[in-house]
Amino acid sequence: MSNSKVGGNSNLCYFIVMHDHHHHHALKNITRALFLNFIFVIIELVGAYFSGSMAVFADALHDIGDSLTLVIAWVLQRASLKKKNRQFTYGYGRLSLVSSLVVGGILVLGSLLIIWHATRNFNTSRVLHPEIMLPLSILGIIFNGWAYFSLRHGHSHNEKAVGLHMLEDLLGWVAVGTVSISLFFVNWVWLDPLLAIGIAFFTLYNAFRNISESTRVFLQANPKDFDLESYFEKVKSVTGVIAAHDIHVWSLDGHRHVISYHLQVDPNHSLDEIANIKNKCRGLLKDFGHFHCTIETETGAIASLSISGV
Ligand SMILES: [Zn+2]
Ligand SMILES: [Zn+2]
Ligand SMILES: [Zn+2]
Repeated sequence: MSNSKVGGNSNLCYFIVMHDHHHHHALKNITRALFLNFIFVIIELVGAYFSGSMAVFADALHDIGDSLTLVIAWVLQRASLKKKNRQFTYGYGRLSLVSSLVVGGILVLGSLLIIWHATRNFNTSRVLHPEIMLPLSILGIIFNGWAYFSLRHGHSHNEKAVGLHMLEDLLGWVAVGTVSISLFFVNWVWLDPLLAIGIAFFTLYNAFRNISESTRVFLQANPKDFDLESYFEKVKSVTGVIAAHDIHVWSLDGHRHVISYHLQVDPNHSLDEIANIKNKCRGLLKDFGHFHCTIETETGAIASLSISGV
């Protein structure tokens, strides 16, 4: 399906790719991905400890972030099975925003700690074990490479975003491998904290991007994938429509959106015709994504012939 429009964070794409393509296998897929990520994080942490490499540790932090995101996707997949109720009339979609802010906060804190720690370790003559770093990086390249190439052929926005993330993870391990090989020949121990800082900045950048996207949704911004002007251009072309005002568009979770507006219609129309006009306006939304739509019709004084009060 190509109708998967998501303005949300790229990490959660894991979840959404599965939502759109393998509805019934989603839980199984997430559980497997989660299990593999978790095993790999443990291998990394042990490897970081025994090799003394800060770069490997920075990579482990990044992967802990990926794993946490998967855990949350897994929990949300279960929570989403719960239907909306009288207490939560929109359902539980916004849980994903809360969790992406929490994960973002953890990653920002972790990255800053690594950067701070690495800058203080440039001059110390620590003992590094490239003979441990190298097999670790080969494992990382195999693991991330396999994940990348199995998703590479996707065409949807989500699959591309997940694929790009995997490619970045892959390049991180190529860098760790390159550093460990050069450590066999030269004693440039500073290469390791330098790479750690690079990886931490990359993690920081992604975390900030996710936080800012979730914050946008929290602040009820117009969804990124919704072109307000072009939608109301189409609404105006429906016969009987005079104008629209008091327009409000926001997103529940970056995936499902909510829209409400007042529609001024030609007062000469019957109630049936007005209901028909409303249905047409509703139908036009189908090209713009998943919407929960409320339209109030007015036949009173004609205030304006253009879209106003956005
Ligand atoms: Zn959907
Ligand atoms: Zn990653
Ligand atoms: Zn009104």
